[in-house]
Amino acid sequence: MAQSTEPFLQPWQFFLLGGMLAATATVIVATGQSPANIIILSLTVVSVSFVGLGAYRILSPLVTDQPDAPITIGGRTRVALEREKALVLRSLKELEFDFAMGKIAKADFDEMSGKLRARALGLMRQLDAGGGYREQIAKEVQTRLSQEPSIRLKADTTCNACGTDNDPDARFCKNCGHRVSTD
Ligand SMILES: [Zn+2]
Repeated sequence: MAQSTEPFLQPWQFFLLGGMLAATATVIVATGQSPANIIILSLTVVSVSFVGLGAYRILSPLVTDQPDAPITIGGRTRVALEREKALVLRSLKELEFDFAMGKIAKADFDEMSGKLRARALGLMRQLDAGGGYREQIAKEVQTRLSQEPSIRLKADTTCNACGTDNDPDARFCKNCGHRVSTD
């Protein structure tokens, strides 16, 4: 048997081991059955464990947080898109500079800058679309937090003594002078 370099069981080893244990248990439980029935039962249990392994493989990328894995947008990494965007924008600047210096004709400049602008816009759109749920959630949280102060301003300033509704920032009742501020 080859010596394993892994200190712990890998997920697939766990599923295989689980399947084998379950198969053994099945054989024990099914004692008294004919050999053919035991084999069929064992194969069923082993195949169920393989289904479990398949499910694990499909679900693990969804539940496992992998900070090292590059974020891909349309099969390309975000870093690659950012790099190309920077390159396109720099090319555009150089093109504008060359045109300003009179090195290239107006027609050529229009055509080339048009293509570069379209490419830059496409890349920016790809980057924006690939913002991901985390950024959307962060934005949502930020929006709610920024709304909180206005909710706080609506603190109860109704007078306990006479029941008059006072302004949100009132410290004393405008009707009877009773203290309504909570701070
Ligand atoms: Zn009052």
